[in-house]
Amino acid sequence: MSSDAKCSKVECDKFVAINELAKRRGFFWSSFEIYGGSGGFVTYGPLGTRLKQNIEAKLRELFVKKIGIFEMESSVIAPGKVFEASGHVDHFKEPMVECQSCHQRFRADHLLEAKGITSAEAEKMTLEEVTQEIERHGVVCPDCGGKFGYPQRYLTMFETTIGPYSGSVGYGRPEAAQNIFVEFNRLYTTARERLPFGCIQIGHALRNEISPRQGLIRLREFTIADLEFFFDPEEPVCDKLHEVENETLPILLCETRLKDCEDSTDFTVRDALDKKVIRSEWQAFFMAMAKRLLVELGVPASKQRFIEKLTWEKAHYSTQSFDQEVFVDRWGWIEVSGHAYRTDYDLSCHMKASGVDMTVYKEYPIPIEKEELVIKPIMAKLGPVYKGDSERVAAALAKVPAQQVVDEMKKNGSIMVDNYQVLKEQVDITEQKTIVRGTRFVPHVVEPSFGTDRLFYVAMEYAYGIKDDRVVMSFPRSIAPIQIGIYPLMSKDGLDLKAKEIQKILICEGFMTEFDETGSIGRRYARADEAGIQLGITIDYDTLKDSTITIRDRDSWQQVRTSTKDLPKMLHQYFEGKRNFEQLGSIIQS
Ligand SMILES: [Zn+2]
Repeated sequence: MSSDAKCSKVECDKFVAINELAKRRGFFWSSFEIYGGSGGFVTYGPLGTRLKQNIEAKLRELFVKKIGIFEMESSVIAPGKVFEASGHVDHFKEPMVECQSCHQRFRADHLLEAKGITSAEAEKMTLEEVTQEIERHGVVCPDCGGKFGYPQRYLTMFETTIGPYSGSVGYGRPEAAQNIFVEFNRLYTTARERLPFGCIQIGHALRNEISPRQGLIRLREFTIADLEFFFDPEEPVCDKLHEVENETLPILLCETRLKDCEDSTDFTVRDALDKKVIRSEWQAFFMAMAKRLLVELGVPASKQRFIEKLTWEKAHYSTQSFDQEVFVDRWGWIEVSGHAYRTDYDLSCHMKASGVDMTVYKEYPIPIEKEELVIKPIMAKLGPVYKGDSERVAAALAKVPAQQVVDEMKKNGSIMVDNYQVLKEQVDITEQKTIVRGTRFVPHVVEPSFGTDRLFYVAMEYAYGIKDDRVVMSFPRSIAPIQIGIYPLMSKDGLDLKAKEIQKILICEGFMTEFDETGSIGRRYARADEAGIQLGITIDYDTLKDSTITIRDRDSWQQVRTSTKDLPKMLHQYFEGKRNFEQLGSIIQS
């Protein structure tokens, strides 16, 4: 990406500028405007939908295509049991306060953050402590200045009923991960019963946020990309680590954060693992991939960091968590992805709640021979003593662990089972050899989880620049919502027909194009720069004579003259990053 299109000094807040541009040009806007809007819902317009699809295509390219992660698509609504088992019904709650005058409700931790209390501190507070802090800092309603009532914990999942039965509670999924866990057995079969493997789900999720006021950053309905990677905890080696081991990860460690310091430390992936800063190789691998993803979306490495979550900030299922953060103009560092080591928590929860076995079988390299004690009641000796009860005595004895029977016989010469005394001479104790060929266990999981709308927002912010008082959206060429603009110099003399002919060829070649014949060429270029259209092709009178065209670069505003022969091939190479702009033709000196 060329840096000359970047803005050197943006006068207003970029958040305001981007939201204004987004609305005007059709990237995104708040939904339901004609009814006064509803906070936390967003509509992506024609340009935004394209851009979002391109960002999601990047996720698929990086994880599904290149690493071979599975992808699945499941339902947004789930029966209550799923989120009861996963712990969400108990834990997915935020502290909320209500203004006693205007009755607006707010997230208490966000109000305290505005008073300089870090989210880390706010998150571990009890409701009593929240009340004390609100009083101590004199926090009042930001809307009317009223006083707040006592806080309560509010469940931020959307609750509904499935079908017309009030007893059949369902929830809108607040993440896409649980779908993957509940389908584990089928996915494992598809993986030909081998570990490790991963599965990603990219789809809508719902969180009934208390007061979303940050545009794309905090939405009630949003797109999430959850990737669950399953592996054997006894074989935690990542066979792809060599691809990323020299990648640098700037990490803000817990110990640094606890000293109220914001300085991150640079570790290579290899270093971070050797020093046990990151405990799982697969987690480190996905963190490096996440960094690369953001670079490909246009966020420089220097504007990214990973922050280690403190014990009380971690989700209820996680043993070690990092957030990937990107620096943005209005809010400073914001989270764009989370990286959690979820261990066997989720599968174990669903196993327990559903009663379905979700363990996997592992064959030992060499079968293990085990000696097993076998206790056999001698019925010929029990019968005369217990008569009709002797079968019941035998059954009760079978429930006692063999070693316990042996120990008690040794100590007392008898054992009491269900109030029956069984004597040493009434049982046969033998040792039997058995061959054990393998074992069953619950796989462990590391999870990278991306908020697609946040990826979208940071891609917009880092593309945003001003050149000669004009907005230029310098998206990396692989995610530009429209690749090529087609501009006939005039809409007459056959120039428009020639332009349509060229556009048709490019469409057949799979390019995303836009035809624009309105206004001066200068105005059309300006419109294209704002929309982030990567290249512009101008068809003029010479085109009709010698089949040459002008191609213009969005970022440098440079132009080349080239023949339409081999045009699709050259453009493919350009968009794949195998050819520079200067290699598309001969530079026109302006
Ligand atoms: Zn109020």
